[in-house]
Amino acid sequence: MWNNAKDRMLRERATEVIPGGMYGHQSVALMPEDTPQFFIKAEGTRITDVDGNVYIDFMCAYGPNLLGYNHPDVMRAVSDQQSRIDASTGPSPLIVDLAEAMVSMISHADWAMFCKNGSDATMMALMIARAYRGKRKVLVARKAYHGSMPWSTPRPAGVVDEDRAHVIYFDYGDPQSLKDAVVSADGDLAGIFATPYRHDVFADQSMPDREYAQVARDLADEHDALLIVDDVRAGFRVTRDCTWESIGVRPDLSAWGKVLGNGQPISALMGNNRARDAASQIYATGSYWFAAVPMAAALETLRIIRETKYLEDMHRIGKAFRDGLNAQAKDIGIGVRCTGPETLPMLQFEDDPDFRVCYGFCRAAMKRGVYLSPYHNMFTNAAMTETDIAQTLEATGAAFEEIKSNRASLQPSTKVMAMTGS
Ligand code: PMP
Repeated sequence: MWNNAKDRMLRERATEVIPGGMYGHQSVALMPEDTPQFFIKAEGTRITDVDGNVYIDFMCAYGPNLLGYNHPDVMRAVSDQQSRIDASTGPSPLIVDLAEAMVSMISHADWAMFCKNGSDATMMALMIARAYRGKRKVLVARKAYHGSMPWSTPRPAGVVDEDRAHVIYFDYGDPQSLKDAVVSADGDLAGIFATPYRHDVFADQSMPDREYAQVARDLADEHDALLIVDDVRAGFRVTRDCTWESIGVRPDLSAWGKVLGNGQPISALMGNNRARDAASQIYATGSYWFAAVPMAAALETLRIIRETKYLEDMHRIGKAFRDGLNAQAKDIGIGVRCTGPETLPMLQFEDDPDFRVCYGFCRAAMKRGVYLSPYHNMFTNAAMTETDIAQTLEATGAAFEEIKSNRASLQPSTKVMAMTGS
């Protein structure tokens, strides 16, 4: 029987010693009531919370779990490397092997720099774009997430206007809005940031059309600025290359993170020769950026990406999940929208402006052993099988029944209403 007594106790302790009880994207403050905050095990497709409840995990550590938690080949590479050298006085030869491997896989790229988090990579992209021609303005789509730095964080606390004085916002997917933003840069355009497709929180996902991506490319060229694709979230879940390669548009820079080491801490910035000098001029570094163990994990992850059909398997499983959800919703007469790539599914409900139905549904699925998100896109991983999806659909089928019967009593979360302004 599901219970969360230990989780509740830990949360109380955390409130005393961790600001707000928890911070950042892994705080469950915005998740449905009772969502566990603390976990003690992650293996394959499953996570186990501190009370021993096991979930099929459709958040995949918010991305890093690509091949299954503790993938045996990756973990072997980790332990082999651990016995030799990790963080040290200088990088190991693996940094060259890894740069070569990434350059050989990412078509637009001639060089690589490695760091720890996605925010490190997008910050380097910002600096390189400015170092490139000494210009200042960067274009960013409204509501797009590019990390937790002052220029990009979604929260205003601790940020001053000057941090964003040279950030100009435009509407994602709208070529005219992009053109207008370029005009307002008034000859001072350093770079254009692009998420590979629209994956904002609390919103349906949408794929970009080629024309929009091409307009971004052309505007960057016309103004001698850099085009940057932020592939931190979608990288290697859509294609084995930069995600915009699939629509035929090549950026100058692309930011990578999350999946690179299948959970080991490593991210990357990839760039072309146009951006090479600027990249060699900026000062960007960190105590752990050169550590060898995550690089060994990344080399093995990349080998699996190249040599196996992990991506095709993920698409098949993601499609089975999506088709199953759609069929269940139709049968029970509840409108849902499943949007985005099958490997990064987003679920929203019709007639649910304050998200109460979606929250009720995810809570009901969670109590039946399936961890979903009602506001953020989800992730599949290559360890998921048809059996996992059958088990997932058993839980979601019961969750649909539950919200159908108690829909009238569902309440919106006050935190969500404050966030979304609904
Ligand atoms: N860009 C995108 C598109 C992301 O999804 C994220 C993380 N959710 C980041 C940047 C920042 O990555 P990190 O949390 O590793 O700093």
